[in-house]
Amino acid sequence: MIIDTHVHAGEYYRHYSARFAQQMTATTDLAPEDLSAPEAKLLAEMDAAGVDRVFLLAFDVRRVEGFSVPNEFVADLCARHPDRLTGFASVDAGTPGAAERLSEAVTDLGLRGLKTAPCYLRMSPADRRWYDVYETASDLGIPVLIHTGYTPSRQADPRFFSPLLVEQVARDFPDLTVILAHLGTPWTGPCVELLARHANLYADLSIFGSYQSLPTVAKALAHARGSGVLDRLLWGTDFPFASMTGSVTRMAELARDPGPWPDDSPPLSPREYEALMGGTAARLLASAAPHAAPAPRPNR
Ligand SMILES: [Zn+2]
Repeated sequence: MIIDTHVHAGEYYRHYSARFAQQMTATTDLAPEDLSAPEAKLLAEMDAAGVDRVFLLAFDVRRVEGFSVPNEFVADLCARHPDRLTGFASVDAGTPGAAERLSEAVTDLGLRGLKTAPCYLRMSPADRRWYDVYETASDLGIPVLIHTGYTPSRQADPRFFSPLLVEQVARDFPDLTVILAHLGTPWTGPCVELLARHANLYADLSIFGSYQSLPTVAKALAHARGSGVLDRLLWGTDFPFASMTGSVTRMAELARDPGPWPDDSPPLSPREYEALMGGTAARLLASAAPHAAPAPRPNR
């Protein structure tokens, strides 16, 4: 079972602003139009890469960036492909009623997680305005995926890039499952050590695993293995910002070739590879949903 835990719904002309799309792709080989991931393109990429399921993310940054990928849009896609897509809602704690919107997205729309973008919203993930949102997520039994690390968006606030800001959240909500996006790139070492301090924290490899050199990725995985947290890392891509096919190929190489690995650390074992590529994500979804999932409402 291969699960990509970090995939963006949304289409360039329909959702993203031109400014955002330009800034996000300026230093890559991508064109702004490549940020579009309509249904057919998403499913074709999953099939080509052998990906069984993805966590499909809404993205609410309207207050700062002037656009959002709405919860309803993600819920519609997930209702059409419940066997392939697990939807994550997104809310902005800087606007009133965020906790209620999350509650509705889970109870009425059938979404199964929350994605937040604190630095894009110029807020710390530990800002007290998030606390009733975290409380609600904890009550609903859903995981919270928090953007951590660098972003090329120039509207974002770099004071809030650090994954270490999540430590206070991990302490204050010990029952909340939190996933740190991008392994906190470029602070991947401190991010691994943060996971070692808090059993409720996970991290995804999106962007980091696709764009860093294989020795850099292997070194981070070896550090995670040595710190006892490799079983809380989740493979993900950030598609369409990175390809699934390319990333699956790279991960398979890290399971086969000792070349990129440090001398004292072997390649991923079959068991480690299976956990990283989807086993842990499947377990997390199953255990993080103690409440019966409501039937998704199609065609809203
Ligand atoms: Zn992302």
